Amino acid sequence: MTVQPRPSILSIEPYVGGESKIPGVNRIIKLSSNEGAFGPPPAAIAAITEAAREAHRYPDGGATALRDALGRRWGLDPARIVCGNGSDELISHLCLAYGGEGTEIIMSAYGFLMYDIAGRYAGSRVIKVPERNMLADIDGMLAAAGPRTRIVFLANPNNPTGALLPTSEVARLRAGLRDDILLVLDSAYAEYVTEPDYDAGAKLVDAAPSTIMLRTFSKIFGLGGMRIGWGYGAPGIIETLNRVRGPFNVAAASQAAATAALSEPGWVEKCVAHNGEWRTRMAAALERAGIKVWPSHTNFLLVDFATPEGAQAADAKLKSRGLIVRAMGGYGLPACLRITIGTAEECQMVLDALLHG
Ligand SMILES: *Cc1c(COP(=O)(O)O)cnc(C)c1O
Repeated sequence: MTVQPRPSILSIEPYVGGESKIPGVNRIIKLSSNEGAFGPPPAAIAAITEAAREAHRYPDGGATALRDALGRRWGLDPARIVCGNGSDELISHLCLAYGGEGTEIIMSAYGFLMYDIAGRYAGSRVIKVPERNMLADIDGMLAAAGPRTRIVFLANPNNPTGALLPTSEVARLRAGLRDDILLVLDSAYAEYVTEPDYDAGAKLVDAAPSTIMLRTFSKIFGLGGMRIGWGYGAPGIIETLNRVRGPFNVAAASQAAATAALSEPGWVEKCVAHNGEWRTRMAAALERAGIKVWPSHTNFLLVDFATPEGAQAADAKLKSRGLIVRAMGGYGLPACLRITIGTAEECQMVLDALLHG
């Protein structure tokens, strides 16, 4: 017999990323991975170019300049920040460090798929709690927590639903969990949220030790290709991640790009304003045409075509015009497509295809 991985590994459905090619179509517009409408911030491009000269040097293993910049930007203690090769890396390390054979990890039914993959990798049983009207069911998640539960994952806002839970509901989740259960608050889309009382997680982390907030440069900061995420948590959790992560897990050019992106003047404001405008326009136009759109607090829309056939037909219309969006079968939502808010021109093309295609 040839070498075999642990049995739990064989239960993993490999993550299928957003497509980026359509055979026979030259101009491709990729709206399948929520990568941000405007590309990388110019300051980040300059920093990457500059970093190329020093590419023979190992990166700063502590990501000191980036953690300091993050601390200044969000008013956080840099000592309680850890950077990762995307937040995906931190998700995996958290599962391996706190989960494992004989333990359970809880997520909501339409939560981010990486929790399932990383949880199974660790050997944990992953429990998916049904949602209510496309919103994580806090009571259901609390009821699912048992003696073997070690981690609860919650993305707020959530991908792929776009849904936002009130801050009070997130606090209620934390308050209802045992103190030895790690709550991972994944706030990948935090910068897009405009609700006044929204807490991306830092306040809850400060109030409740077994909690970590995860953030990323892959969405509003347009740096998905550079792989930079970060976490803010209690010292013990940060220390744990620092023990297990690779010592040089974030490339030097990536650290430089992220640090520069934070200082790009007006970037977040510009992106949020554009996103809000086009998210509202697209949702309204689709709803007028009788197509259901789930409320979104992110840079994408979950569009519901009522049947899998309806979603497939819409996907085909979009593809014929070079527009690639995300099919949702892998998430158990085969009647839906997830469409990233792109530039004004790209949004208009989506509307033309769906409404007049
Ligand atoms: C995109 C996304 C991430 C992954 O971010 P990376 O930093 O690119 O690994 C994590 N969580 C959610 C909910 C996301 O949508």
